[in-house]
Amino acid sequence: MSQVEKQLADTKAQIESEIPDDISVTDVKYEGPELVIYTRHPKEFAQDGDLVRQLASKLRKRITVRPHPDVLSEPREAREKIEEIIPDDAGVADLDFHEDTGEVVIEAEKPGMVIGRRGSTLREITQEVGWTPEVVRTPPIESSTVSNVRNFLKQEREERRDILERVGRTIHREEMADEQWVRITTLGCCREVGRASFILNTAETRILIDCGDKPGAEGEVPYLQVPEALGAGAQNVDAVVLTHAHLDHSALIPLLFKYGYDGPIYCTEPTRDLMGLLTLDYLDVASKEGRTPPYDSAQVREAIKHTIPLEYGDVTDIAPDVKLTFHNAGHILGSAVSHFHIGDGLYNVAFSGDIHYDDTRLFNGAVNDFPRVETLVMESTYGGRNDYQTDQEDSERKLVEVINETYEDDGKVLIPAFAVGRSQEIMMVLEEAMRTDKIPEMPVHLDGMIWEATAIHTTYPEYLRDDLRDRIFHEDENPFLADQFNHIDGGEDERQEVADGGPCIILSTSGMMTGGPIMSWLRHLGSEEHSTLTFVGYQAQGTLGRRIQNGWDEIPVQDPRDRSRESTISLRMGIEVVDGFSGHADRQGLENFVKTMNPRPEKVLCVHGDERSVQDFSSALYHDYNMRTFAPKNLETFRFK
Ligand SMILES: [Zn+2]
Repeated sequence: MSQVEKQLADTKAQIESEIPDDISVTDVKYEGPELVIYTRHPKEFAQDGDLVRQLASKLRKRITVRPHPDVLSEPREAREKIEEIIPDDAGVADLDFHEDTGEVVIEAEKPGMVIGRRGSTLREITQEVGWTPEVVRTPPIESSTVSNVRNFLKQEREERRDILERVGRTIHREEMADEQWVRITTLGCCREVGRASFILNTAETRILIDCGDKPGAEGEVPYLQVPEALGAGAQNVDAVVLTHAHLDHSALIPLLFKYGYDGPIYCTEPTRDLMGLLTLDYLDVASKEGRTPPYDSAQVREAIKHTIPLEYGDVTDIAPDVKLTFHNAGHILGSAVSHFHIGDGLYNVAFSGDIHYDDTRLFNGAVNDFPRVETLVMESTYGGRNDYQTDQEDSERKLVEVINETYEDDGKVLIPAFAVGRSQEIMMVLEEAMRTDKIPEMPVHLDGMIWEATAIHTTYPEYLRDDLRDRIFHEDENPFLADQFNHIDGGEDERQEVADGGPCIILSTSGMMTGGPIMSWLRHLGSEEHSTLTFVGYQAQGTLGRRIQNGWDEIPVQDPRDRSRESTISLRMGIEVVDGFSGHADRQGLENFVKTMNPRPEKVLCVHGDERSVQDFSSALYHDYNMRTFAPKNLETFRFK
């Protein structure tokens, strides 16, 4: 009997001693971090609402109870009963029965009504039919990403169970190391922005945190091949943790599977879906630009198949000596500050990922409250001493002004924007401004991936700011569904129509005008003097957006029908820059995050910022708060214990 089998047998005996005699346990298994209990008495298990909770806290594990296949009721019968139990208002769209595991996946418009107060409706379902219900939300806006990911995972269900079982055994293996130490090695994003990647090593475990590319510098990838990372073989990495879906953190995650990695990826559910969307787009852009991407869509599918989604606040065993907890980072949908508890009270490290400290329209500000933290690995994008941003209120006022002036001139407002994050933030500003008559009602056209990214946001309202979530949940006034928002899905013809029409606002990718439908909008509107090109995001050196900000007004563009033909647009539009809509904390926000952190860490590694920003921020934390700070270079290793 292997060690894990023995452990499972012991656990089974312990469970049997804890529960009433008339409830049987037929099997216990690990599936990823979860302990799955199979029973012939699922109804009795469900009767006592506290039973599973008590077991979970006693065993210190996440627990799922499933029926033994013998006792399952007929799906047809079960379906009828489930439909009786769930209130009609829940909007059940689909019931999907899996006889191999006794699970029924319930897709509904309002999952809360399927779950019931503290899970009461779910328990009622199990009590009545014996099946284990699992609930997913029908996106209020149809999302091809969400449905593709769900269909793919359904189709790969069996293989996924094998993966989870294998991962579960690795997580719960016996600890072999007789020493205890903790090290972090920097593989990228040190004294630079881009290619975020770190290795967290203990004597027992190796964890890779993020694996991004460096936008505009395709050759510069994280130092994955050093012995501390994948150099000694990808199979030596126990787990990959992804803080959020931006490509400078996620682009090269699929590449790991090409290198032979076969383990889990931990991230939030929205991060998984956005990673799918953004990495597939990354491949698409590479091939359009004639570059050979480092992996293909098969590896993106592998990454999705190996993802174990966690919710904020779930304390999860990811190795025999490491527990991981995600907390809201306030940066983009699903972004997470990642907290690692190592050993039994040995050491605690938090990786900030990218954060926004103050509340925005979309998200609550980043969480900085932890049971314990000795070391913080901290982003410093705007850590420079002069990196202060305009207050968002002022920025919103300016945007409203620009729109009103353009409207009075009978013009159109064209806004280049990133699909994920800033677009939805601006949508919320526009929706409110129209609702409160600060700007006239007019169509807001959304072009490029913006619509799809918005659909993913509406699928996961739990990850949005409290009051926004409540509007989506309770009042049936989902602001993303406001009438003025129009998805440009008719291509060039529809753009032409909009260009020929009256005043409107257009949000289009790419955010830095490096390609995408914004180029087509430039051709349509570039010569209109009374229209306004309005920048709401950072424009990097070398991008067309930056050049226009610097005064370029003769823009070379390709003919969309014949790419070999180039012509020039004389830009006559008004140019406006409205900053303050960043997804990142500014210098003050970064300082506040550390200053008010509870508990205050002993050491801070300042990363993810250019040389000047990290040095400034590191020395400020040292002088003002008397902390031990570092501004590491790439490929440095720190020993903490
Ligand atoms: Zn980011």
